[in-house]
Amino acid sequence: MCATLFKVDSAMCSVVDVSLHERYLQIDTDEEVQLYEHQQLTVSPRLGRLDREVLLPSGDKLVIKQQAAINEWLDCHIHSRVDKLERNPIAIFSSLLLVPLMLFIVFKFIVPMIGQAVALATPHAFAEYASKHTLNVLDYGVLAPSTLPNSIQTELGRHLHTQLQRVENPDVTYQVLFRQGNALGPNAFALPDGTIIFTDELIKLVDQETRLLDAILLHELGHVAHQHSLRYMAEVLSTTLLLEYILGDMGGVIELFFGVSHTVIQNQYSQALETEADNFALSNLHKIGLDSNDFADAFEALASISKDEGELENLLSTHPRLKERIANARTYSKSPQ
Ligand SMILES: [Zn+2]
Repeated sequence: MCATLFKVDSAMCSVVDVSLHERYLQIDTDEEVQLYEHQQLTVSPRLGRLDREVLLPSGDKLVIKQQAAINEWLDCHIHSRVDKLERNPIAIFSSLLLVPLMLFIVFKFIVPMIGQAVALATPHAFAEYASKHTLNVLDYGVLAPSTLPNSIQTELGRHLHTQLQRVENPDVTYQVLFRQGNALGPNAFALPDGTIIFTDELIKLVDQETRLLDAILLHELGHVAHQHSLRYMAEVLSTTLLLEYILGDMGGVIELFFGVSHTVIQNQYSQALETEADNFALSNLHKIGLDSNDFADAFEALASISKDEGELENLLSTHPRLKERIANARTYSKSPQ
């Protein structure tokens, strides 16, 4: 049978004659006869009706049109099992079930474990460095200096700092800052080093009600105590790397998968982390003279205070399932502590 031989050190190719023997593949070129045992060859798997490619030990490549005899000779050794598996309907069906299951396990359990391990292994100096840079970027791009009167900033700052000191965590130095949120609107967020930022818009939204701010403060404290920002960064990074590794270069499929899964996964992570931060707040409320009903009241009051639904949606965009969280706080107050 005819085949095309591509020389490794030349752009030329030549038509050669190939014959099959039980133990050898024979190539007849114009100059010589070459004999190869199967284990000397690297054989491409069978893909539809595409030509078969065989890499010779010299680096030369032999391209042969598919036909039964050549397929049988090439596939009767190492690759035959993989090839058979790829054509087995049961194996195909099983992989359709097993692959999504494996992805679910990886993203539900393994990725959060990676996030936790990375956060635990991250030195505090890095958390400080990352926080400083994040704040610089936010100050440069989104936030502006607070426009709250100095007296209010001092008074609220002192109050919140006192509350922070009552919730012991000697490992972290907390500080409270005020900023004009602009595009972030009414918001509060924590940086990995323990810096908690309240926007002017949030202070105004809750009319400086310290009880509400205390509840929000403890929730943010929960994010710091559980190293959520570091964990989240590690989770997003490992998710991206894993998806690239698992899905390889599947082009359109990967884009579709990203579109759906990224939202789902991200939402899932944020819900799990929000619940953890809520539980931290609920279990520490008594230290600042509040109980879990105050926490629920605070979030309910927050919902009722907002006149603009859009504004509230903005505040709660990273705080999903508000009703469930309020209900959780109410139940928590009834359960033995
Ligand atoms: Zn939160």
